[in-house]
Amino acid sequence: MSKIFLKIFIGFLIVIVTLTTLLILLTYYTVREQYLDNLTNHLKNLNYSIKNIIETKVDSQDYQELDNYIKKLGREIHARITVILPDGLVVADAEKDPAEMENHRTRTEIAQAINNGFGTSLRFSNTIKEDMLYVALPILKDGNIIAVSRVSMHTKDIDILYSRLRNRIISSSIILSLITLIGVFFFSLSFTKPIKSLAEASRKISAGDFDTKILLKRSDELRELADSFNDMTIKLSSSFKEIREQKEELSSLLSGLQEGFVVIDKHGKIILSNKSFNILFDKENLIGTDYWSVLQDAKVAKLIKQLKSQYRSITKEIQIADGFYICSGSYIEAKDEIILILYNITEMKKLELVKKDFISNASHELRTPLTSIKGYVETLQMEIDERHKPYLNVIEKNTDRIIRIIEDLTILSELEEKKQELEFQEVNLIELSKNILKIFDQSVSTKGLNLQSNFSENLPLIKADPFKLEQLLINLIDNAIKYTNEGTIQLNITDKVGVGSQPSPSVKNKSDNKIIIEVKDSGIGIPKDQQERIFERFYTVDKSRSKKLGGTGLGLSIVKHIVQLHNGEIKVESELGKGTRFVVSLPIA
Ligand code: ADP
Repeated sequence: MSKIFLKIFIGFLIVIVTLTTLLILLTYYTVREQYLDNLTNHLKNLNYSIKNIIETKVDSQDYQELDNYIKKLGREIHARITVILPDGLVVADAEKDPAEMENHRTRTEIAQAINNGFGTSLRFSNTIKEDMLYVALPILKDGNIIAVSRVSMHTKDIDILYSRLRNRIISSSIILSLITLIGVFFFSLSFTKPIKSLAEASRKISAGDFDTKILLKRSDELRELADSFNDMTIKLSSSFKEIREQKEELSSLLSGLQEGFVVIDKHGKIILSNKSFNILFDKENLIGTDYWSVLQDAKVAKLIKQLKSQYRSITKEIQIADGFYICSGSYIEAKDEIILILYNITEMKKLELVKKDFISNASHELRTPLTSIKGYVETLQMEIDERHKPYLNVIEKNTDRIIRIIEDLTILSELEEKKQELEFQEVNLIELSKNILKIFDQSVSTKGLNLQSNFSENLPLIKADPFKLEQLLINLIDNAIKYTNEGTIQLNITDKVGVGSQPSPSVKNKSDNKIIIEVKDSGIGIPKDQQERIFERFYTVDKSRSKKLGGTGLGLSIVKHIVQLHNGEIKVESELGKGTRFVVSLPIA
């Protein structure tokens, strides 16, 4: 039996039982009252009918005859009649000897009849020892009460009548209630059955059975509810199908992905990883594993920390066993989860190494024959006649250029391979710069340029490799002179933001414990779209101009490497035709 059915049924049962009980009580008391009223009237009428005879007999004080008459009448009409004088003396009674009866003056009905002209009382009679209904009327003669006639009846008969009446009311009420309850039973059943089917269907749907349908043969709100429910099931089913398909698609996409893919929750546990990622660690399943137990490179922990604080995608190169990987991470703020994608760059790294080795070996191998060619050219220059000298000059110029390129390439490959250990020592940048500036005195005056320097007072010593810093300054100042036709070239060195010049924001932020080197010119400038590329190897904005000026396209690559080896940063700002500004920031310690 369902709970809702019991609730409805018991609710109705309580209402029906209460109403029936009230109805029985009300009917019972109303009928009883009505019956007593009728009986009282009947006894009143009897009183009236014997009024004249009693008046005559009392008037003539013929009490014995009155008593006889009353006894005879009482037997005939099955009622007890009593005649009482106004002082309470009983002179006639249908059932007892009046002489043996006590004074009736104080009896309720007698007192009422004398005082009010009519008296009635329902009480236990001490004389008869039964419940009786008494009705009394005064008998008047010339306006004076000469006696009171009282007719009474046993209520025993009334009670028998009452109990018969009560039984009939109760039995008919019970039958009526039972019929109603049967009706309520079927009503509750018809109401709870569809609700039960709805509940059952919901349970099936929550267990994933979307084929469940509810069919109701009715046309009320419950039918509407069932129809809506069926519609909802169809929509839910198709949404689930779509989600399942998407999930399957995503999972096959992820498992087919060459790159390792992993999702890490806020506690650092792996909650999703694809096949490629698992293969990396030779594991079938990594779900529930702490990420740091597999991704042991300290850079990963640092990357995760950064991701959570910076809310942007970050990429780092990491090492797993003997392999090299680009680890790209994103942070999902809503779920406090991290997604990492690992691209295997081991092959690329190997190729790069081969390339670097080749450049390094080729430069090394070319250096000796080139030096020898240059030596022979110089010797020949003294021997050869004037006619052929221009040819030899071309050979010399190109040999010089190849030598410069070879030298730059050697420096670059050494920097890239970190072959050459940096020699860090306390460097006085002002001293170092002043010596460098002297090198350019000649070229500056030849071009008619103005070379200015501006150094902050009390500039702290910097921990750096002095020879590399010389290389850096030479390259930047040499470029400034090369690509400036008129105006000024400035070298500013400060331990804070330079006077009249603002380093880029990222440099400025960290300027407190940094040295800022600024090389500024009023030269030809660099187009905006090429400013990022000038640090690439062999990249030149204008090849023929660079070649003519003796450039190799490797100077800024060397500069960038030196900056990186010192954990610094380099930025360029430039405007075509107005000039260029290179800002290098280097940590003091
Ligand atoms: P290069 O040996 O050709 O100067 P770099 O690597 O030193 O090679 O510079 C790369 C390119 O950047 C140059 O070819 C030039 O186009 C541009 N460049 C570098 N410095 C400046 C500058 N101060 N003013 C204008 N262009 C510059």
